[in-house]
Amino acid sequence: MVTLGIESTAHTFGVGIVNKGKILANVREMYVTESGGIIPMESAKHHVGVANEVYERALKEAGISEDKIRVIAFSRAPGLAPCLIEGMKFAKEKSKKLKVPLVGVNHCVAHLEVGGVVGAKDPVMLYVSGANTQIIAYEAGKYRIFGETLDMGVGNFIDTFARYLNLGFPGGPKVEQLASASKNYIELPYTVKGMDIALSGILTNLRQKIERMNSISIPPTRKLHSQVQDIDKKVDDKSCLNNTLSVNTSNKYRVERANYTKEDLCYSMQETVFAMLVEVSERALAHTGKKELLLGGGVACNSRLQEMCKIMCEERGAKMFVPENSLLVDNGAFIAFTGEIMFNSGVREKENVDINARERTDQVSVCWK
Ligand code: AMP
Ligand code: MG
Repeated sequence: MVTLGIESTAHTFGVGIVNKGKILANVREMYVTESGGIIPMESAKHHVGVANEVYERALKEAGISEDKIRVIAFSRAPGLAPCLIEGMKFAKEKSKKLKVPLVGVNHCVAHLEVGGVVGAKDPVMLYVSGANTQIIAYEAGKYRIFGETLDMGVGNFIDTFARYLNLGFPGGPKVEQLASASKNYIELPYTVKGMDIALSGILTNLRQKIERMNSISIPPTRKLHSQVQDIDKKVDDKSCLNNTLSVNTSNKYRVERANYTKEDLCYSMQETVFAMLVEVSERALAHTGKKELLLGGGVACNSRLQEMCKIMCEERGAKMFVPENSLLVDNGAFIAFTGEIMFNSGVREKENVDINARERTDQVSVCWK
């Protein structure tokens, strides 16, 4: 039984092909920008433009013709509505043409299920992607969220930070590269609230540090605000010790160029935010008594995050599972992999199946476990 999987939740259009848990093909094309972030309608247009070619490449990679496909799985939730709609349209067209059933897959659940490929059985998952940041584990029929971001996904946070540094999208790999060139830690806020994390305050702090580093001229109202903060900070923020805040004769404050580099900021951001993620993951392991940590989502490609998680797991006798990068990022293979499991347990969609842009991981009934 060959299952086709279609991924289209955000920036990636992917087609994967799976047969009895074996991945035969995993082809993807990503919407990227030189500057700025994802524009949902543009990303959806990108998906329409590449869909047929990605599909043909996947069939070729798997070495099968399309008449071998028995099930079509697609990511129906959560994500950017215009992107989800294009993926669903493509899935419905193929399902009609090939006369095979559809299975709608929750993208976050697919990140979890694909842990099975690397042998994870009952893990706590640190799911760190563009839009989502959650600590998830299976309990009583559902994947429960033990902790999550209170504001933005860690990938979006890193991408926005990268945008402030003019690095383009996606920013994660470029930030990782810059971070590896520094060991100079600049103190940043650390915001863990119980089992949850918050990132927007750290982002503001980083933006202010970048403005100071570049000596950017800020519009008057914002300048006044950030100057007042600078004065406050001079008293209690060690990171400002290197900065000179001077008063000129017209009694206006002038912030001089800071004594740190963008590499230092990338390094400090990673050390701080990844420590927050490791802390809540460890607490989830302790609460649930589970002995496995699974990483998922594009940010999990980061080798420093993997290293920090590994140290934590070793210290508490847990096993860490990291699927290969092509299965960590958004892809069609994990949709096919999850779709096959769901289909085998009897899940079928009706013809009028629709997307659900906001479905949460813990709303899905995991009837196949
Ligand atoms: P996903 O939404 O799961 O496909 O993941 C995409 C996100 O992963 C984007 O925000 C990327 O910037 C981020 N990402 C990819 N590679 C890395 C990396 N090496 N370090 C940090 N973030 C990364
Ligand atoms: Mg994802």
